[in-house]
Amino acid sequence: MGDWHPECPARLQAIDDQLIASGLASLLDYRDAPLASLDALSLVHTDAAIAKVRDHLPPAGEYHPIDADTLLNEFSWQAALRAAGAAIAATDAVLGGDADNAFCAIRPPGHHATPHSPMGFCLFNNVAIAATHALQVHGLQRVAIVDFDVHHGNGTEAVFSGDPRVLMVSFFQHPLYPYSGVHPAGTAPANLVNIPVPAYTRGDTLRELVQRHWLPALEAHRPELLFISAGFDAHREDEIATMGLVEADYAWLTRQLVKVAQRHAHGRIVSCLEGGYALSALGRSVVAHLKVLAGVD
Ligand SMILES: [Zn+2]
Repeated sequence: MGDWHPECPARLQAIDDQLIASGLASLLDYRDAPLASLDALSLVHTDAAIAKVRDHLPPAGEYHPIDADTLLNEFSWQAALRAAGAAIAATDAVLGGDADNAFCAIRPPGHHATPHSPMGFCLFNNVAIAATHALQVHGLQRVAIVDFDVHHGNGTEAVFSGDPRVLMVSFFQHPLYPYSGVHPAGTAPANLVNIPVPAYTRGDTLRELVQRHWLPALEAHRPELLFISAGFDAHREDEIATMGLVEADYAWLTRQLVKVAQRHAHGRIVSCLEGGYALSALGRSVVAHLKVLAGVD
């Protein structure tokens, strides 16, 4: 999205580097991301939202701003199709018994993209597309989306708010972009468990909140497949926000989610990268997350 932009190609390189340095890479099964179809995008997005990307690709070397932070270059359509395509392929692989779980190292991220528009570094809502694919194409009755990115997943909430098939649990720093997700007491849709937390919240506090609010809701929902909007920008080294998580917190969180998935979903988890902009912390946090998913922590 431009040389100045935190959502940069080096993020995926940083993840690869840490996977190799940690020795974890040799235990993983790597797959290429296919392109999502237009039909798949249309599971979640309007034709107008799709056109905002497809029909506005700039010439080589130029950028087309969708908003101040969300820009297209000549490759953005292809990249966005591969990001969504990875989430769908991961869902197919996990539901087909071809993989126990999957992590999609993808960009652009997705959880801010609403049905009507890209925003906040996100073009299409990868996790929402994959979750809808699981419901509509695979015929699942119940899925859950766990969003631990430091920002509120307003796009995902917009897609599923009030849909009893989809439980969405999240925490996010508040106030912070996109300044949404805080529902006055008693007004939150029953399928949302949103936990706004103040700046400088640390892992011990978040673990308590997760135990008190997320885990009982996940138990009650009994998801047949668990999606994770895996943003790592609540890490204390990440300067896009001011939260205090460390790698051990991501490992702990992932362990709780694996237990839920084992009890209700045959262990099935599809995790999709969202944010995370401090390159070293991002790579180390993904390693902590994947060690648990791979069962080698
Ligand atoms: Zn984020």
